[in-house]
Amino acid sequence: MTIRAIYPGTFDPVTYGHLDLITRARTIFDEVIVAVAHHAGKVPLFSVQERVQLLQRVTRQMPGVVVDHFDSLVVDYVRRKRCRVMLRGLRMLSDFEYEFQMALTNRKLFDGVETIFMMPSEAYAYLSARLIKEAGALGADLSAFVPPVVATALRQKLRHGRSRGVAPR
Ligand code: ADP
Repeated sequence: MTIRAIYPGTFDPVTYGHLDLITRARTIFDEVIVAVAHHAGKVPLFSVQERVQLLQRVTRQMPGVVVDHFDSLVVDYVRRKRCRVMLRGLRMLSDFEYEFQMALTNRKLFDGVETIFMMPSEAYAYLSARLIKEAGALGADLSAFVPPVVATALRQKLRHGRSRGVAPR
């Protein structure tokens, strides 16, 4: 029996923290579906297509990882995929309350889903896509936080946004 897990998120953009979690999940599950949310209550910097493409490029060498996207309630997506496991990352205590609420709400919406939490390596425990965008907009070297292809995409996107007077999100 193939055991699959769905790892949903905004991935705006994918970071070494996300990749650390995917790598760990692959040692437990036969297949990990990384699912990019169209709408996550925030306006993303990268389009869905861009976020999917970046994820595909950085997970190309990882067998058993599939990149997809969804535009519905996450539990409806999980149900459609005939999956039972949803994967989320916990960086620090501050993630816990939101994730706890979401896991219980999702279970109420679809009793067949179990949310499994994983912790990243402590090296990535402080990493968030939001902070990386903020630091990138101020010219920080992002090579410790995101793969080179993502750093290049971020630089281009932020340069483009700056020339149009758009603040990073
Ligand atoms: P969200 O889905 O809440 O918009 P993200 O797309 O940034 O958040 O992240 C998707 C999932 O990955 C979330 O469960 C988040 O907690 C987790 N995550 C994000 N960054 C890291 C990290 N550095 N280490 C471990 N998990 C992370």
